[in-house]
Amino acid sequence: MISSITFLVLLAITIFLFYRSIHTIVKNIKLGKPLDINDQKGKRWKTMFLVAIGQSKMVKRPIAGVLHIMVYVGFILVNIEMLEILIDGISGSHRIFAFIPYYNVLISVFEVFALMVIVACLVFLFRRNGLRLSRFHKAEMTAWPKLDANIILITEVLLMTALFSMNAADQVLQMKGVEHYPQTGAFLISGFLVPLFSGFSVSTLEFIDGFGWWFHIVGVFAFLNYIPYSKHFHVFLAFPNVYYSKLKPATYISNMEAVTNEVKIAMGIISEEEAGTEEVARFGAKDVRDLTWKSLSDAYTCTECGRCTDVCPANLTGKKLSPRKIIMDTRDRLEIVGKGVAKNGPAFDDNKALWGDYISPEELWACTTCNACTNECPVDIDHVSIIMELRRYSSLEEASTPATLNAALTNIENNGAPWQFSAEDRLLWADGLNVPIMADVFNAGKKPEYLFWVSSAGAFDDRYKKVVRSFVKILNHLKTDFAVLGKEESDSGDVARRAGNEMLFQMQALMNIETLNAYEVKKIVCCDPHDFNTLKNEYPDLDGNYEVIHHTQFLQEQIAAGNLKIDGNAFEGSTITYHDPCYLGRGNGEYDAPREVLSAIPSVKVEMKNNKASSLCCGAGGGQMFKEAEPGEKEIFMERTEQALETGCSIVATACPFCMAMITDGIKYKQKESEVKNYDIAELVALSMNL
Ligand code: SF4
Ligand code: SF4
Repeated sequence: MISSITFLVLLAITIFLFYRSIHTIVKNIKLGKPLDINDQKGKRWKTMFLVAIGQSKMVKRPIAGVLHIMVYVGFILVNIEMLEILIDGISGSHRIFAFIPYYNVLISVFEVFALMVIVACLVFLFRRNGLRLSRFHKAEMTAWPKLDANIILITEVLLMTALFSMNAADQVLQMKGVEHYPQTGAFLISGFLVPLFSGFSVSTLEFIDGFGWWFHIVGVFAFLNYIPYSKHFHVFLAFPNVYYSKLKPATYISNMEAVTNEVKIAMGIISEEEAGTEEVARFGAKDVRDLTWKSLSDAYTCTECGRCTDVCPANLTGKKLSPRKIIMDTRDRLEIVGKGVAKNGPAFDDNKALWGDYISPEELWACTTCNACTNECPVDIDHVSIIMELRRYSSLEEASTPATLNAALTNIENNGAPWQFSAEDRLLWADGLNVPIMADVFNAGKKPEYLFWVSSAGAFDDRYKKVVRSFVKILNHLKTDFAVLGKEESDSGDVARRAGNEMLFQMQALMNIETLNAYEVKKIVCCDPHDFNTLKNEYPDLDGNYEVIHHTQFLQEQIAAGNLKIDGNAFEGSTITYHDPCYLGRGNGEYDAPREVLSAIPSVKVEMKNNKASSLCCGAGGGQMFKEAEPGEKEIFMERTEQALETGCSIVATACPFCMAMITDGIKYKQKESEVKNYDIAELVALSMNL
């Protein structure tokens, strides 16, 4: 009776405390800005089953993945036994389900899983504390996160050990025919402990059984109430968080509706009356309450595994940025703001903010928006959204964009390109080539099948001009019905958006959309994966809807259709390695088209250590192309060039103007220019065909 009352009191306290913690966390997440992401339910359920339940991202690293699944599945199954423990605790019975046929087989299955949990936890403890894997010992892994991880692992080992002791003592008591212990038959794992326990007296065995039982149940209750204060809260939040994953392409950046009206007024597209009078409280995010609820949910879901930081090119090359720290800082700040708001109301202000006090400009501006972090995260956390919102605040409200990047933005504003060239010179790249201009073609009453988007790099970067010229030669060879905008094309705004200058992005985008729509453009082919991403994924938010393909996709389609035959053997003795541009590969899932085009060119192909989804960024995305790299041990492009050179290649094939600039520099700094060349895939095709 006393035991049942004690149990009930403990259970009630546990439920109350757990409810209170969950309530606080939910309230804190709700401090974020609203975001309606209840669309595509089927796709969301599928993602949740694959990523959260199926642990699809965990198994990419097979050993760690399998061990994690052992703990995850084991812990869930073992705790099914909790049902019996709960009923026994409340009713004062003992093994109330012992009447079930094959009860001992069921318990034996649980024991196998419990053993798996112990083994996996011991391996994890050794990895953290013995092997000292670097991702568990980065700067942000201060005393508490390290202790938290160890507490959880040790607790799990102790809980499972208590279970085995309890079951072993129980079996000996059954053998001794003690009343209250129903005959269940032997249990598989704890059966091995029986000889150790058989010499104990009945009272000692009853004590061990009782102690094991109470230790297990009190441990589980305590564990349940510890979890909301620990990174292990992901065991609950992972499921809803993954359900609400970003379903758009990784490199898509959401539109700032608040800016659209202002830009449309400035451009004379709508009047102030039409725009309404809605005041914008803040552009971008200064503090956690400026982030969406989803970013705050991300913060609570982080497992602190460090997989994101482990693949971050900025972190890998010694820069201060760690995507895990961005998430941990967001959670730490949210805890403080949440407590402050609960105590002082919504006006709470401690004169601190996520921007500046937690996350420094150095961290913020080191990001290349390569999305290696989001790709790797096992619970689909979106670090880049937080970084982008902070950059937007930094740029639009603090005007603290790095100076060189700012100069590029000023050029975009003045000349429609990040470099200081006149917009009038935008067609000089095409000198001597047959390049139809859209205005002429359209005025002649024709609508070309393709608009070839040249991009700022294609128009003004001396090296990249050669790439777009090569591509045009291929288009002409194929007799493709295409045209270019010529002087009417302006910068896509990709750099402006990634630099946080949403005003400039939207001005560029709306201007280009107006031009494209006026010519009733339907299909766009484009060499620059950054512009490809912006035109394809971001212009639709501003009513620019086109079918956009990358030039490698176009080439692959033409080869597959039998229109493009690469019969030359200019590269027969060459060894080619392909560098995946982040905005084409990880961003938009295109890994095959460039490789299929390359496979049509007679030559040897080799892959770099990091390729496809795990490719390493060249270091130029996210505005980095136009700014000094943040302090670190190494330039990112050098790291990537070294990976390329390790393959023993004679050609590094690229498919992006930024990658081309970076890899070319890398080859130069390594003084390998005479042995290793850097060509765009369009150039390799054109050269192979003697065009
Ligand atoms: S997007 Fe790339 S550079 Fe930025 S934090 Fe993630 S991994 Fe690092
Ligand atoms: S953000 Fe994701 S990958 Fe990074 S530490 Fe957290 S759970 Fe791991």
